[in-house]
Amino acid sequence: MVLKRTPLIAGNWKMNLDHLQAIAFVQKLAWSLEDAKHSFDDVEVAVFPPFTDLRSVQTLVAADKLGLAYGGQDISEYDSGAYTGEISGQFLAQLDTKFVIIGHSERRTLHGETDEVVAAKTKAAVKHGIVPIICVGETADDLEKHGQSAVPVAQLTAAIEGLKAGVDIVVAYEPVWAIGSGQAATPEQAETVGAALRAVLAEKLGADTAAATRILYGGSVKSGNIAGFMREPNVDGALVGGASLDVTEFAAIVRYQK
Ligand code: PGA
Repeated sequence: MVLKRTPLIAGNWKMNLDHLQAIAFVQKLAWSLEDAKHSFDDVEVAVFPPFTDLRSVQTLVAADKLGLAYGGQDISEYDSGAYTGEISGQFLAQLDTKFVIIGHSERRTLHGETDEVVAAKTKAAVKHGIVPIICVGETADDLEKHGQSAVPVAQLTAAIEGLKAGVDIVVAYEPVWAIGSGQAATPEQAETVGAALRAVLAEKLGADTAAATRILYGGSVKSGNIAGFMREPNVDGALVGGASLDVTEFAAIVRYQK
């Protein structure tokens, strides 16, 4: 049986758009995608605003029938306590947060997140019923020294340690050299690593879980290059940074043509 994975187009706003701007953005996005509502079984759309916007986005999404999902950009590995500045999975779950981005390369490099921290955060998300989007990807230096797949494969192996078959996760392959650089990977490169990541999922979590798990590509995705990625069998969507901040461009990415 060939299992159909619903493509996921995820917009990572990073530290952009305050809660008032988020309200305006989501309203415009809902309007831009109004005519596509009926085909939303074919693609899932999610936005990832800063924490301070989540409550506003929740209110809008609840009032709207668009079916837009949203997620956090990070999660604490802890549930509660003396962790100044942290946001727990419990708080995110209370805001109906469906997804959370974990181990983005900016968190790994700017905030020193290790593979162990990424694994702990992944477990915290799963515990609270939030789908982790586990980000993996090699730097330009890694690419030269170890080739393309080695680092992403090692990062994913570490991140899913201890998870059980049937777990609902998403993996995002984001080569660090492609993030915000305007120099996206080729669809073939994304497919090569996507296939290697799915092999890791199959080995660690079993064939069924591997077949059901969405693997996204991220790094300089635009409306002009999305179709090429989506044609690849092991690319099930995109994690979009810069281009997700422009409603027209993001809506065009959602409407990619196969
Ligand atoms: P970009 O960012 O689309 O601006 O390259 C992607 C990301 O960091 O998730």
